[in-house]
Amino acid sequence: MEHPIVPEEIQPASSPSLEVDEHGIAWVVFDDPERSQNVFDESVLRRLLDVVRELRSATEEGAVRAAVFWSGKERAFVAGADLSPIESVEDPVEGERGARFGQSIFSEVNALPIPTVAAIDGICLGGGTELALACRYRLASDSPATEIGLPEVQLGILPSWGGTTRLPRLVGLQAALPMLLTGKRISPKKARRIGLVEEVLPVEIFRETVESFVRDRLDEKSAPSGGDRGLLTRLLDDTAPGRRIVLSQARKRVLSRTGGHYPAPLKILDVLQAGLARPVERSLEIEAAAAGELIVSTVCKNLLRVFRLREAARKGTGVESEVEPRSVESIGVVGAGTMGGGIAQLAAYHDLRVRMKDIEHGAVTGGLRHARSLFEKAVRRGKLARREADRKLELVSGGLDYGGFGTVDLVVEAVAEKMEVKRTVLREVEARAAEGCVLTTNTSSLSVDEMAEALERPENFGGMHFFNPVHKMPLVEVVRGRETSDRTVATIYALVLELGKVPVVVRKDGPGFLVNRILGPYLNEAGWLLADGARVEDVDDAAEAFGMPMGPIRLVDEVGIDVARHAGRTLHEALGDRLEPSPPLVAVGDTDRLGRKGGLGFYRYDDGDAKGADPEIYDVLGDAVPAERTSIDQREIRSRLVLVMMNEAARVLDEGIVASAADVDLGMIMGTGFPPFRGGLLRFADELHPRTVLDRTEEYREKLGTRFEPASALRRLAEADREFYEAFP
Ligand code: NAD
Repeated sequence: MEHPIVPEEIQPASSPSLEVDEHGIAWVVFDDPERSQNVFDESVLRRLLDVVRELRSATEEGAVRAAVFWSGKERAFVAGADLSPIESVEDPVEGERGARFGQSIFSEVNALPIPTVAAIDGICLGGGTELALACRYRLASDSPATEIGLPEVQLGILPSWGGTTRLPRLVGLQAALPMLLTGKRISPKKARRIGLVEEVLPVEIFRETVESFVRDRLDEKSAPSGGDRGLLTRLLDDTAPGRRIVLSQARKRVLSRTGGHYPAPLKILDVLQAGLARPVERSLEIEAAAAGELIVSTVCKNLLRVFRLREAARKGTGVESEVEPRSVESIGVVGAGTMGGGIAQLAAYHDLRVRMKDIEHGAVTGGLRHARSLFEKAVRRGKLARREADRKLELVSGGLDYGGFGTVDLVVEAVAEKMEVKRTVLREVEARAAEGCVLTTNTSSLSVDEMAEALERPENFGGMHFFNPVHKMPLVEVVRGRETSDRTVATIYALVLELGKVPVVVRKDGPGFLVNRILGPYLNEAGWLLADGARVEDVDDAAEAFGMPMGPIRLVDEVGIDVARHAGRTLHEALGDRLEPSPPLVAVGDTDRLGRKGGLGFYRYDDGDAKGADPEIYDVLGDAVPAERTSIDQREIRSRLVLVMMNEAARVLDEGIVASAADVDLGMIMGTGFPPFRGGLLRFADELHPRTVLDRTEEYREKLGTRFEPASALRRLAEADREFYEAFP
C-alpha cells in the first residue's frame, strides 16, 4: 500500500526500534534518545512507517505473529505530537496533508493482519492514543501515572490522525464525546469501563502480563467483535436518529459552555455527524479536512500560544541566577480562615506536612473542617481514594500556638488584611522559625516592602499571593520585595509548581501586584457604566460575550462587596484619580450588602446561586445612577472594559512590575479567566495594534475624562509602530 502523502524526504528517526522475540512477537519500542518523553514528530512517524512496512513483510514471511507497541521510557508511553508544525501552518491544505500523513501510517498499523497491542504504561496522549486506537488491542498498567487522553480540542484542533474517527467506533459515541470535547484524560479504570482498553494490568509485572496476553492470541486471524453496550446505549450510538439526538444535545452543551467562541468542539461534532455514518476511509478524509480548517484559525494559534506560556512557566525557576531553591517538605500557615484553610488543604493534597495557627479556636477547627470537606469532595469525584484522602488529611494539624513552626521550611501568613497585625505576626514567626525558613505573605493589597521592614531577615521574605478559592484558581503571584533574595523567589516559585499551580513573578512591590491592579480599573469601569445608565445585566453580558467567565459586576458580588471596596480604596490611594471609585460601587459599599456570601449584592442569590440581577438595585444605588436605564451599545461597553485593562497593563509593564507582556497575559488568563482563545490581554491588544488601542483610548479620554488618559508606554508603542510582545519580550 503506497501513500503519496508520506513525504519521502524526511529522514527517519532512530526510535521506534524493532525486535522480534523467540515467540514471533515483534516489540516496537519508542524511546527517543533526544527527549525525556516520546513525542511524535515527522521523523519518528517516518521511522514508524518503515517499521510497520518491515512488520508487514515479516508477517507475510511468517516471521512475526503479533506486534506490541511499547515504550522504553519510565512510566510514559507517548506524550503526543510535536506541536511546532501547528504553529507554523498557515495553509489549510498543508494542515490537511499533515493529518493525512499521520492517518496513513496509523491506517497501515490498523491493516496489519496480526494481533497488534498498545501496551500503555504512563502518560498516553494525542497521537499516542491515536496509535493505540489503530491497534487491535490496548492494555494499560494500573500505575497512577497512566492516563489516556486526546487533548487536541484544548489546542483548538481535533484528533486528526484517526482519533476522531476511531474512538467513537470503538467505545461508542456517548462515551467518546467527553474525551473528544473536553480533552480531559481518563484513568485506566475508566478506560476499561468504557472499553477503550481491554485490560488493566499490574504495573509491577506489566511486561510479563502483556506478553502472556499476546501469546494467548498469537494465532488469532481477525479482531474480536465489539463489547456489550446496553440496548439504549446502542440505540443512541448506532442509529442515525439516536446519533442526531446525542450530537444535538452535545452541541447545546458546547455552546453554553464556550459561548461559541471555540470552533474545535463544534467542528468535532460536525465530523462525527458526517463521518460516523460513512466508511472509515471517508470519515478520515472528513477528519483531515476539518484539521486543515482548524489549524489555521486564530483561535488555534492563540490557544497554542497560551499552552506555550504555561509550559514556559512550568519550566522556569522565577530567577535569572542558578540559585538552588530550599526544598520544602513542611509548611506553616498563620491564619486558618478562608485562604489559610484552602492553602493548608492544597499543601496536604500535595503531600506536604502543614501546621496551622490562628488566634481563634473556632478558626482552627473551621480551617480543618474546610480542608476535610475539600478532601471529601475529591473522594466523591473519584479523584482520590478514601485511604489516600485520610492519609493526606492527617498531614494537617492546627492550634493556637506556634508549636511546630521551628522546623517548617516555609510559612504562609494569611491573617486579616491589616498591616500592623501582619507585621506583628511575621515578627513572631521569624523569631521562632529556623534560620533559612522562607516567610511569605498572602496579602492582596498591602505593601510587601512595608512588611519586610519589620523583619530581621527580609531577604527570606516575599509574597505568595493565592487567589480565592485556592483549590480552583490556578494562579499564584510570587512577589519579590526590595530585599527578597533570589533563593527566596526560587523557593516560592518551585513550591507553587509543586502545588500544581502556575507562578507569575511580580518583580517588585506595587499596589494590587499584577492581576488585581489590572482588574481594579476594569471593575471600576463597570461601575461607571452603571453610573451612565447601563443595566447590570447589559454590562455583564457584554463582558461574557467577549469571553470573560463572568461579568465584572457578578465578579464584585463574588469577591465580596466589602473586599472589593477595600481593594478599590487601596488602589485609589496608591494610584490616584484614575482609580477614583465609581459612585455606584461606593453606594453599594455603603449598604449592608456583601455580595454572594451574604445572599444579596447586585444580584440575588438562592443558596449561593445567582438568581438574576436584583430589580431593586437601582433604587438602592439612589443618586449614583440615573433615574432611568439607557441602552448602551454592547460594543461600547466591551471597549470601555477592555481598554482600561490594556491601558493599565501598559503602565504595569513600564513600571517593571512584571518582566514581559507574556507574564501579563499568563497572569490575566490564569488569575481572572481572561479568555484564552484571545491569546491574552496584550496579545489581543497587539492584534488590534497599539495604534488603534491608543486612538480609542484617546477618544474615551475626550468623552469620559482622565481615567482614560493613555499610558505613556502605549503612546510610545503607537508612535514607534511596535507591539507589546515586541517591546516587552
Ligand atoms: P479570613 O478572615 O477568612 O481569615 C483570617 C484569619 O486570620 C482568621 O481566622 C483570624 O482569626 C486569623 N487571625 C487574625 N489575626 C491573627 C493573628 N494575629 N494570628 C493568627 N491568626 C490571626 O481572611 P481571608 O479571606 O482568609 O484572608 C487572609 C489573607 O489572604 C488576607 O491578607 C487577604 O487579603 C488575603 N487574600 C484573601 C483573598 C480572599 O478572596 N479572601 C484572596 C487572596 C488573598
